[in-house]
Amino acid sequence: MTRIAIIGAGASGLFLTKKLLEHADCQVYVFERCRNVGTKLRASGGGKANLFNEHIDPDGYNHPDAARQLLQQVSPARLRESFEQMGLTLFSDEEGRVYPSSQFSQTVVDLLWEPERENCHAILEHEVKHLENREGKWHIDDFPVAFDHVVLASGTPANMISKNRKEYNRFLDDLSLTVHPFQPSLVGFTIEDYPKFLAGCRTRVIADLWQGDRLIHREAGEVTFKEDGISGIVILNLSAYYNRLPSKENCFLQLNLIYHDEHFNAEAHWQRFHTLKGVLHPKLNALYEQKPFDVNHFKLKISGTYAIDFAQVCHGGIDLQEVNPDFSLKRFPGLYATGEMLDMDGICGGYNLFFAFASALIAYQTITCKP
Ligand SMILES: Cc1cc2nc3c(=O)[nH]c(=O)nc-3n(C[C@H](O)[C@H](O)[C@H](O)COP(=O)(O)OP(=O)(O)OC[C@H]3O[C@@H](n4cnc5c(N)ncnc54)[C@H](O)[C@@H]3O)c2cc1C
Repeated sequence: MTRIAIIGAGASGLFLTKKLLEHADCQVYVFERCRNVGTKLRASGGGKANLFNEHIDPDGYNHPDAARQLLQQVSPARLRESFEQMGLTLFSDEEGRVYPSSQFSQTVVDLLWEPERENCHAILEHEVKHLENREGKWHIDDFPVAFDHVVLASGTPANMISKNRKEYNRFLDDLSLTVHPFQPSLVGFTIEDYPKFLAGCRTRVIADLWQGDRLIHREAGEVTFKEDGISGIVILNLSAYYNRLPSKENCFLQLNLIYHDEHFNAEAHWQRFHTLKGVLHPKLNALYEQKPFDVNHFKLKISGTYAIDFAQVCHGGIDLQEVNPDFSLKRFPGLYATGEMLDMDGICGGYNLFFAFASALIAYQTITCKP
């Protein structure tokens, strides 16, 4: 009989649990600090759960080489097959984003979580604080069972209010792993000298992230001006590239507000109509009338990002050098780390859940020696 502990019943932990429970000789103990399981999975994709993407680009992750290696082991098609074997039907949109066909994230949680199974032991409202290896077996806090394998799948404090995140992943201190500090990612930017009255303006743009005279990344889509900064999916994606920069000096956004016409001449339009109100969102037009600016290159100096509370994921976590390609920890036999708690984060569009599920699938294959 193999005893396996999973720390964290999020996307990665639940997927792994479901797979392991298929093996009657595996006793699976799931430790979860909350009363409910799969909280972020349920919140994902606005409650629809964008589970993965059919066209994952390795450059969409902060470690493209590691992503390439991962994709050789688990392709999006392989993950699709795995979900379909569980009985989940899937739907892909025109951009390759894959959702449960129910368009309801709870469906996925209900399918993955089977605490009634005889070999499943749910230990809810238990925040793991200590891990120790004694005579080749792993011990968790003062829990009276010794484990052959322990999978660390406890994610990051992204989207969590600060009072709840003080002790996050405290058990990692026992292992002295290299862990990069968590920084908010897939999050809005705060802007220097921000024209607050733009709050509420939503408009389509081509958005560039620049550092000095270097273009870091370009995305097209809708942005939303908020009370204290700027957000929207294109901005969230730019924040992922911003986090990869070793220094954040001299970073600015440059928005082309005339995304649809590269030959548009604002000056000629102004000369002819004495206004841009037929061109720009009314709030941007009001700004222009106060002080004209280059509508193809509207610059906003970045002062930082919103806090972790507002982030969809965290940049940072356990250094990838600490894990083997099968997600076992190099220095600790029997220990594995999967999902967002590793220093791997991706852009919007199903990249982060893909990593959570794919890393769990690989760990499962190693633990059970199954393909
Ligand atoms: C609002 C929102 C929308 C998102 N939308 C998408 C999307 O559409 N597509 C996408 O790909 N990604 C999306 N993401 C990101 C995605 O949800 C996460 O990357 C993914 O859930 C990470 O899975 P995980 O299992 O690694 O961690 P989590 O899902 O965070 O699970 C970790 C679990 O561990 C528990 N835990 C933590 N510490 C302990 C401890 N010490 N002891 C016991 N339990 C512990 C936590 O309570 C949690 O249940 C979104 C995130 C947010 C916040």
